[in-house]
Amino acid sequence: MKVGIREGEIPILEIAGDEKARMSLVVMKFGGTSVEDPAAIGRTAAIVAGRVSAGKNPVVIVSAMAKVTDQLLRAAASAATGDKTGALSISSRLRSRHKDTACALVKDAKAASELLTWMDQKFDALDEVLRGLAAILELTPRISDLIVSNGERLSCRMIAAAFRERGIDAEAVDARQVVLTDSQYQKAAPMDAAIEKRAEEKLRPLVKAGKVPVMGGFIGSNEDGITTTLGRGGSDFTGALIGGALNADAIEIWTDVDGIMTADPRVCPDALRVKVISFEEAAELAYFGAKVLHPATILPAVKKNIPVLVLNSRNPANEGTRIISLAPHCRSPFKSIAVKKKLSIIDVVASRMLMTHGYLKEIFTVFDKHQCAVDMVSTSEVSVSLTVDSNDKLPAVAADLSRLADVKYEGKKALICLVGEDIRGQNGMAAQVFNAVRHINVRMISQGASEINMSFMIDEEDADEAVRSLHGAFFQDPDPAIFDVEARKAAVSS
Ligand code: ADP
Ligand code: ASP
Ligand code: MG
Repeated sequence: MKVGIREGEIPILEIAGDEKARMSLVVMKFGGTSVEDPAAIGRTAAIVAGRVSAGKNPVVIVSAMAKVTDQLLRAAASAATGDKTGALSISSRLRSRHKDTACALVKDAKAASELLTWMDQKFDALDEVLRGLAAILELTPRISDLIVSNGERLSCRMIAAAFRERGIDAEAVDARQVVLTDSQYQKAAPMDAAIEKRAEEKLRPLVKAGKVPVMGGFIGSNEDGITTTLGRGGSDFTGALIGGALNADAIEIWTDVDGIMTADPRVCPDALRVKVISFEEAAELAYFGAKVLHPATILPAVKKNIPVLVLNSRNPANEGTRIISLAPHCRSPFKSIAVKKKLSIIDVVASRMLMTHGYLKEIFTVFDKHQCAVDMVSTSEVSVSLTVDSNDKLPAVAADLSRLADVKYEGKKALICLVGEDIRGQNGMAAQVFNAVRHINVRMISQGASEINMSFMIDEEDADEAVRSLHGAFFQDPDPAIFDVEARKAAVSS
């Protein structure tokens, strides 16, 4: 199987001979910027139509329109502090934005009127919930999920209608009927077997009938049918879950950049596209902050060895990044640099008791009790330093830890993480890394937990500078088999 440019300008998976009939199901996930306004939704429809006319069977997963999730969360937070007017005015702006977009996209009078009436009902129900919140002044994670789920529920119905208008036989599917999860609101864990069953029942028959199911990402429901969400950025995860459940031939993550880049292009404008990367490297990058993929995305694809492509809906001709089980050898040690901000360091110093047997276990029991995930750990004889990103849980964790030892914590830290399978066994790599950031104060260092990453902790305000310095040092002469050096050359000569 290889990726090539076909059907006008849109890259497709090229599949050999008799595999062809079997291998046609493609899960296509479009992020918020790919559905942010009528023009973006029009581009998305053209991309999906291109796949259909190439004989593929797409299953489409959509995010909420760009920034809608943030605005819904702001409306909920305002209502919960008693600011009913503020909350309702956010909702009113969202209602206008969705209805204006729907009117621009759906010209068929009957379809438009049905869609607008349905949207009004959803916004009326949302306003009721916001008024209720402003009265009781308490926002639970469960109500937050219900409110925020409106973003994907609205975009899903609207985009399906827009697709139909453009000749795609699309059908909206409520993700809550398919993505079954546990009840951890705001970060629910999917129930794979149940999702597989529901995907077979609700999605497969549509695909078999030649239809294009369109489903919202990010949202699901628990066994009582109550709405849950998979955590911020979770639509990628939905894409991979559905890809895994349906045994798709490929999972495509359509976003606003050309693929996984050697660094966040917003921080490092000369970042290069990575043409191919391993599942393991991509998972590590996502976990350590590369927002282009949700950290849990890769797992369902890995389990079934389904290739994942990261593609740009603004530049569909670009072949993007292909994530596959085994990446080819790369001359450069690293594939990409990720940054995770808003972290804290906790120093636990056992003043009298030296590190006795069972001491670390006690420390981790405290983190476990508060369900506080630890990113990085370093120990000396009397002290343990740990980094965490759940800042809200820190005071309670610190209070418990202080029964064992002296504790201090500090926020506004960033973790810089360099990822690449080819750092395995390379001598002198740490010296090169720290030489590149010698002007920056490094607080904690970790290498070894995973053989494919090197990470260190610095002050958040130094993070962008550190990324640019490292990028300058390690991507001067990138391997053309792995990185899109042509794009850099083209940019220099233009
Ligand atoms: P979507 O709405 O499509 O899910 P996101 O905003 O979640 O898109 O992710 C895409 C963004 O991720 C890009 O605009 C880019 O700024 C950021 N990003 C961070 N690190 C990387 C990286 N290594 N490669 C590409 N994009 C990255
Ligand atoms: N809309 C959700 C968010 O903004 C999920 C996603 O877009 O992936 O977090
Ligand atoms: Mg995203």
